[in-house]
Amino acid sequence: MKTEMLSPQKDKNALNTAASLLKAGKVVGMPTETVYGLAANALDGDAVAKIFRAKGRPQDNPLIVHIADFEQIHSLCPAVPPAAKDLAGAFWPGPLTIIVPKADCIPNEVSAGLSTVGVRLPSHPLARALIRAAGVPLAAPSANTSGRPSTTTAAHVLRDMDGKIAAILDGGPCGVGVESTVVSLAGEKPRLLRPGGVTLEQIETVLGEIEVDRALYEKIGDDTRVSAPGMKYRHYAPKAPVTAVRGDPARTARYIREHAAPGDGVLCFDEFAPLFTGLTEISFGRSDDLATQAREVFDSLRAFDDTEVTAIWAQCPDDAGLGLAVANRIKKAAGFRVVEVSADSFG
Ligand code: AMP
Ligand code: MG
Repeated sequence: MKTEMLSPQKDKNALNTAASLLKAGKVVGMPTETVYGLAANALDGDAVAKIFRAKGRPQDNPLIVHIADFEQIHSLCPAVPPAAKDLAGAFWPGPLTIIVPKADCIPNEVSAGLSTVGVRLPSHPLARALIRAAGVPLAAPSANTSGRPSTTTAAHVLRDMDGKIAAILDGGPCGVGVESTVVSLAGEKPRLLRPGGVTLEQIETVLGEIEVDRALYEKIGDDTRVSAPGMKYRHYAPKAPVTAVRGDPARTARYIREHAAPGDGVLCFDEFAPLFTGLTEISFGRSDDLATQAREVFDSLRAFDDTEVTAIWAQCPDDAGLGLAVANRIKKAAGFRVVEVSADSFG
């Protein structure tokens, strides 16, 4: 299959072409404010099955359904919990996915056999225009090959999906850069399943204190039952193995400088880049600029695949604010191999 690159800047029919492909049951790469998605008609199980094939995604990992207007949630969820309305009022359109009980129209391919569905109203104007033009909600996971870093540009999507999907709608680079925050309202208490573009602190200003899934902090075994099946899979990984290094930024920089071998790569905060001359260094924002770190973390992890590095050391922010999401992506890229650096770490 030839994968068509559709650019609304060059072709005024780009959006309509993408919508027609979706209506015909095809898969299209879609820009959103978080990362690019691989979209298909969420109400068509056969179309959704193509997403799983293109990504090589495990069948038990459900997809998020994207809507263009809040009212559309009622067709996906028979009884919308009041907390969902509160969260939507505060953060939609935006990088938040809400897990709610699902309606019968949602095929098993989307929900992976669960009784729930994840719903998101993105803020990206092209994403919403595409959902409206397609006339149906769109199921869309991140547009990377399963296990690889998520895609934040149309070129990344093409790199992973060339020949596997019908088209990619080019909306430029993504503004947020990490995926949506996932909050489940399907259990007794609201629970954070994945940190993302909306921070835990922001969610708690609306819902009060919520539970945080332990999968955010530790590696989950393949045979363990988890709330969000995606949490147990290896994720976001470049080809070379990654070690995440946490602690005071000046100390983590010093620790990496002392431990990195020639030929290693370093993912570092901007101000420490000069320390790593002689190594392959890629910086992803200042240590105090979490928004830039979020926007650049996947791009930077991918960039190591164009180098010869055999191991990667990554400076990792702490868990405050957007740092929870950035640190989670780096720790997952590292398979939870994390070094905690303190004053005692130096002889
Ligand atoms: P991705 O599509 O790559 O952004 O991943 C979506 C994430 O949301 C995965 O970790 C899924 O396991 C999770 N997810 C999607 N739908 C549900 C659901 N109904 N219940 C729990 N987790 C979900
Ligand atoms: Mg993903």
